[in-house]
Amino acid sequence: MEQLFTRTGTEFKGTVDFNDAGKPIRFVDITCDRCTVFQGQRVWCRGTENGRPFSFTGFDCWTCGNTGVRGTRKERLFTAAELARANKAADTRAAKKAESERIAREAAEAARASIEANYRAVNADFLAKLATLCTGDGSQFWDRFAADLLVAFKNPSERQVALVEGEVLKRRQNATSAHIGAVGDKITVTVTVERVFSLPSVFYGQATTWVQICRDEQGNVVTYKGSVYFGNKGDTATVKATIKAHEFYNGVAQTVIQRPKLID
Ligand SMILES: [Zn+2]
Repeated sequence: MEQLFTRTGTEFKGTVDFNDAGKPIRFVDITCDRCTVFQGQRVWCRGTENGRPFSFTGFDCWTCGNTGVRGTRKERLFTAAELARANKAADTRAAKKAESERIAREAAEAARASIEANYRAVNADFLAKLATLCTGDGSQFWDRFAADLLVAFKNPSERQVALVEGEVLKRRQNATSAHIGAVGDKITVTVTVERVFSLPSVFYGQATTWVQICRDEQGNVVTYKGSVYFGNKGDTATVKATIKAHEFYNGVAQTVIQRPKLID
């Protein structure tokens, strides 16, 4: 009889059967999936967990009768020529699949590149501003902010644009912020409120203490802590006040004022 091989190319030396079409086959055992060998003994259980069987029933496996084999299946055997043909066909199929996958991958990459190019063109101004805020080490808020936008090339919302514009402006102003006048001077200054918050009252009935961080018209930081309220964030007020101190906060020059009087 002609030499026969399994599909993987191993020479078959066992008993050869034939299927209805007269082709050579072998019978292969199907391992039982209801039981398992545990510590040298076949036990009917659902599986093992941390190396121990669970749902151990103590009964013989009703699927395989503790043989470990629940059945057999037919597997085709091949002559050398048939095997070569089957392998060649499989290679052709694999090559075709790889080629179509490559084409699909390249199309997807090209589509993404085009979407990215369009996104970068449309948002060039925004992205350039955002880039000036990033440290590049990926750890800071603005780095994460920028990276998140690039995940799906989603156009920034109005709020995100405002956030970036605001931060760019703030940093530019911080870089040039200078102290106003001299300590003790009485000045009249128009300020825009940048941040405002109240301090908790120490005793009942105490007037609210406001901490207000503002900028004058040149972008210099002016701060005030006290009971006079300048307005909400973004509001502008003109005040007459005395310069209490010249300070630096995070390297930014700020002028502390006291006893402000609102001028309308
Ligand atoms: Zn079994």
